Amino acid sequence: MERILSVHFPKAAGSSLQVQFMKLLGDEVILDYGHDPLTPAGMETADFPDRKTLVMGHFRAQRYASADAFWMTFLRHPVDNLISIYFFWKLLPEAHALHARFLREQPSILEFAMYPGLRNLMSETYFGGFDMNRFDFIGFHENREDDIVRLAKAINLPLLAAIHENRTSESAERLELESDVSVRSKLTDLLAQDVGFYERMLRRKTNSPSPEKLKTSKLICSVCGGTVFADRPVLWDKLISEWQLGPHERSYIDRQQGTCCTSCGANLRSIALADAIRATFGITLTLIDFVMSEAKDLAVLEINEAGNLSSVLQQIPGHISANYPAIDMHAMPYSDDTFDLVVHSDTLEHVSNPIRALEECRRVLRPGAAVCFTIPTIVERLSRSRAGLSKSYHGNPEMSADDHIVHTEFGADMWTYVFRAGFSAVSINAVDYPSALALSARKGTCNLAL
Ligand SMILES: [Zn+2]
Repeated sequence: MERILSVHFPKAAGSSLQVQFMKLLGDEVILDYGHDPLTPAGMETADFPDRKTLVMGHFRAQRYASADAFWMTFLRHPVDNLISIYFFWKLLPEAHALHARFLREQPSILEFAMYPGLRNLMSETYFGGFDMNRFDFIGFHENREDDIVRLAKAINLPLLAAIHENRTSESAERLELESDVSVRSKLTDLLAQDVGFYERMLRRKTNSPSPEKLKTSKLICSVCGGTVFADRPVLWDKLISEWQLGPHERSYIDRQQGTCCTSCGANLRSIALADAIRATFGITLTLIDFVMSEAKDLAVLEINEAGNLSSVLQQIPGHISANYPAIDMHAMPYSDDTFDLVVHSDTLEHVSNPIRALEECRRVLRPGAAVCFTIPTIVERLSRSRAGLSKSYHGNPEMSADDHIVHTEFGADMWTYVFRAGFSAVSINAVDYPSALALSARKGTCNLAL
């Protein structure tokens, strides 16, 4: 069997592979975790050990530069990767001097990004000075299941994609951090060199069996300007049967909710909504840049958190959050002509009278201002009320609260609701048809007809 050199880039799927290599190859494996690139020992070089098949560990690729082997590694988007290491280090018993400093200083994630060796963990610490063309296989954490299948074929070992080891648990603190767009945006800037390296490696990846699952596409994230997207399926079977969705419909709704910008974490639904906001204001800036510049004086009403756009919109001083159903969308406690923008995302289907709710949005908007919103839409059918049908819920299926009941399933005629609510113009923005649509409805400047 060919010799294999596996560079274990931390928190990027390596541990699950290590467990399987040990099981399949036993003492033909050498684990080399004593030359961590974040420690002085990381500078030592070595030859591929005799009579062994596989070397794996945390080490600089340069350490084994002399080895003629099948070179492999898994990478992960630098922002997610740093967040993962950050929370892993919080739980890890003291491992080395830099980690001791971490435990002592308890840095914020942004301070942590500035630690020596971490800011350029991929492009310098692990792979600096190494010709990446020598790698026979580069897998991606974001695409791990398919990539492990691809690797198994390439090295002819029965690796299982389902085995998942050494996952750092998802604390509330971590979930909050992962969805904080402004922190992600700052991290993306700090880690720019690694993000560029990672994107180059993604572009190099040409022999994936499913390039549609992770790709650098023409799609640009209207929230942050990111160009790399990753997928995860989100629909569950009960909802699919209640909605009577076909496989095609399932796949585009999965894409709407589950395809995310790897830089800021926004899903296609949030990106479409951001795009509708940009079109409404006639701007080409990203939403983050808009919020930091021209949007500063706007009065904005956000009804329910619009996914991870919320943390961006909250940066606007005149931003107000309203939570439906605590605040009744059929009768909102705001004066007429108050807001320059009203935003809601996948909320209208939960309101018993969506036309009345849109009328309320219109009432509180200033003349000429717009409501931007998304609704789950099945474009091949007409809208239907779920009155008389079994109750259906969105959100976590384990926590079916009554306010998550779906009253309306929107279809191709969803735009008619806007005019029935008295708006004078509607536009439908698609960043990806039909999976990512957002509507923008403008209040007329003269009310003669209404
Ligand atoms: Zn983004």
